[in-house]
Amino acid sequence: MRMLGLQLLSTNMSFSPQLCPNPTCHQHQFKSVGFNRRGYFHIKRARQYILKFQCKQCKKIFSSRTLKPDYRHKKMDLNLKLHKLLVEGSSLRSCARILNMTYYNTYKKFLWLRTLVDIEKKKLKLQAKELQFDEMETIHHTKCKPLSIAIFVNENHQILELKVAQMPAKGRLAQFSVKKYGYRSDERVEKMKAGFESLKKNLVSFPSTIKSDAHPTYLKIVNQYFPNIKYEQINQADKKRHQDRLHEKLQKKRFDPLFNVNHKCALLRSQIKRLCRRSWCTTKKVENLQLHLDLFLISQFI
Ligand SMILES: [Zn+2]
Repeated sequence: MRMLGLQLLSTNMSFSPQLCPNPTCHQHQFKSVGFNRRGYFHIKRARQYILKFQCKQCKKIFSSRTLKPDYRHKKMDLNLKLHKLLVEGSSLRSCARILNMTYYNTYKKFLWLRTLVDIEKKKLKLQAKELQFDEMETIHHTKCKPLSIAIFVNENHQILELKVAQMPAKGRLAQFSVKKYGYRSDERVEKMKAGFESLKKNLVSFPSTIKSDAHPTYLKIVNQYFPNIKYEQINQADKKRHQDRLHEKLQKKRFDPLFNVNHKCALLRSQIKRLCRRSWCTTKKVENLQLHLDLFLISQFI
């Protein structure tokens, strides 16, 4: 997190521009005539001096902050503080109270953090020898509108991908949900496929084993994206039925073959306030849940 802060606010006095920020200028793509120094200014909040330059071609003046993603942010130091609070179990409103900001400003900063996610996700080099995946459930404001989160974890307990999908209500709430909110399409398979596709694109090398629970749709999807890779489906119900025959019956701790992914699901519920059970902090927009999860994902690597 500290490294990222340095990168965002890195405006040291040795900065020298390579390209002109003006898109109509010839130097926007190739450096030719160069730039002149044009003094500096001071940002009190960041305690930094920022160099200014003038393009010799188009005569436009710019600074080392012009090309930064947080350009024109008045309180640029709060971006990273907000990110840290969000992945440590604070809701947006509690972040606003802690950082002395209004809710509207906090929300705007939260939406801006998407820029950070895009920058950091491009840099990630994802690796997995053993890939485990599963789905966890949460709600979209009410239990009548459930959501499913596909989660992919490697052997080093790192979350590699998270995808949110809409799903219809189950059980006793199913009928009531259709009556009140209408028909809800099931996007789980589609999003699971999207997760596998993005992993296939971003993984440095293919995994040697893939593990999951015995959900009937998983086998087909895995065969579609990783056809020649060893795939183990762990059937917990089958194991429970034969438990009296196993040595583990008398042991207090039971071996969990999907520990990595189950542990990460529990961690997400603890670290992300909107996933917490029995809480009045819930997701109001599905895309914001996806953004919140992506923020957690990049926080593991920076
Ligand atoms: Zn220029």
